[in-house]
Amino acid sequence: MHADVPTMLLMIIISSVAMALALAVVAWGQRRDGIAWWATGLLLHALGYVLFSGRGRIPDGLSIVLANVLLACSLSALQAAVHQFMGRPWPRWHMAVPAAFIALVMWALIDHYPLRVATASLCYAVQIGLLLAALRPMARPGAGRGVLLLGLGLGVQMMVLLLRTAMALWGQQHPSGLLASDLVQSLTFLMSFLTVQLASLGFVFMTRDRLDEGNRRLATTDALTGVANRRSAIFALERDAARAQRMGGSVALMVVDIDHFKRINDSHGHLAGDRVLCHVVNVLSDRVRTQDLVGRYGGEEFLVLLPDTGLDGALVLAEQLRQSVQQSVCHWQGQALAVTVSIGVFGGRLGSGDTWEMVLDAADRALYQAKQAGRNRVQASNSLARAEPQSMAAPEPSTQNI
Ligand code: GH3
Ligand code: MG
Ligand code: MG
Repeated sequence: MHADVPTMLLMIIISSVAMALALAVVAWGQRRDGIAWWATGLLLHALGYVLFSGRGRIPDGLSIVLANVLLACSLSALQAAVHQFMGRPWPRWHMAVPAAFIALVMWALIDHYPLRVATASLCYAVQIGLLLAALRPMARPGAGRGVLLLGLGLGVQMMVLLLRTAMALWGQQHPSGLLASDLVQSLTFLMSFLTVQLASLGFVFMTRDRLDEGNRRLATTDALTGVANRRSAIFALERDAARAQRMGGSVALMVVDIDHFKRINDSHGHLAGDRVLCHVVNVLSDRVRTQDLVGRYGGEEFLVLLPDTGLDGALVLAEQLRQSVQQSVCHWQGQALAVTVSIGVFGGRLGSGDTWEMVLDAADRALYQAKQAGRNRVQASNSLARAEPQSMAAPEPSTQNI
């Protein structure tokens, strides 16, 4: 495969400028996610290739030294983009080091083409390696595929640069010049063209993936306490209830309500009330098992969902939670606020026709009884109220006070 190198250089210039302009439009007005740095890197890349294209027609100082310095700077700008995206500091002198190194080496080796190619390619491969290392913390499960695309683009480019280094140093045929249309040149420039597309798209997708993740978190967590919000807690209850019904297993649910919470708001203010809500959530979250879920149902009421758990196990845990809250101290402006909770618990197997609403209703009715019985206590229920014909009175559910 021997493609026409000047044409490929032109393709790289056009694709880099087009991508840089597209990113500049996207990044307009928001400078924090690194896209502006990425666009700068692409423009420097395009400028370097413009100077490469003038080889033989413009002074070597421009086409060799400055062109390679621009390429080194363009990779540094991509590093700045990734660091900014990750919220890490990136000192400007990091850009000066590769640029100064390349300037010196290109100047010293201006008449030694193979050695020059090998050194520059190796320097770029190292810069890309550093970029990949910086990206590593992003490549975690659930991070989205943008980072994979970016890693793939950069990885391929790094391999090609290493191959180019090896060919320049040890290849049978020494490269004859930048614009010679041989296999290594064609492969290098084809990959440069593809990398600009792949890596840039990968970077844009990374920013989109992060926005998606943020939106998902906003939609599923409670803003004040950080636990599951009502929607995702109900979703989990619905899922666990359906599974328990299908598999013939048990499910348990607690409704936890802070006692006389209104008094805390009234006597210490709503900020103190907010602190108490977070405090109770911390106590609950610290004590439940990893498979259990704590969610905020609303106001000062929380759900604790215990999958694959019967009433007995749920009651033991509920009593531990109640005691833990009572024994804990919530500090507010130098005062220790006393907090207690009442807990309604449902636990048991679900039959056909039983729904998550019935589970929630049973735990809620048990909570009501705990309140009626004087608060700071756990009340249990193991029966679900089934829908009856309207003319018939609904049977009293069986509850037990512990
Ligand atoms: P009981 O023991 O019967 O549960 O009494 P209570 O005072 O805890 O319950 P009540 O329903 O009378 O009051 C709940 C209060 O919770 C009323 C409401 O203003 C307050 N509240 C609801 N959401 C928030 C919140 O996000 N922050 C704060 N600080 N207060 C809240
Ligand atoms: Mg309350
Ligand atoms: Mg309440």
